[in-house]
Amino acid sequence: MSDTLLRTLDLVEPGDLVLYHGSKPEHHGLYLAQPCDCLDCGVSDYLGIDDVRYRLVDPFADDPYACKVHHVRRESITRSAANA
Ligand SMILES: [Zn+2]
Repeated sequence: MSDTLLRTLDLVEPGDLVLYHGSKPEHHGLYLAQPCDCLDCGVSDYLGIDDVRYRLVDPFADDPYACKVHHVRRESITRSAANA
């Protein structure tokens, strides 16, 4: 099976509950994933030089749009079983 197909099957869609286990241990936990809409990530995605990155939102925060972690790589998050 191709790497591309595997990635498609494992796609994190906007609004999915995900578990962050990336390089910032102080932020490890459950988040809602949204595509990172900053300029850098947008340009990288548009040019095809990098995978789509995500920004992670705390689902329990008072401000639902308060973003906790930016520019998160796909490898740093896993879809939560809570989606199933
Ligand atoms: Zn970004």
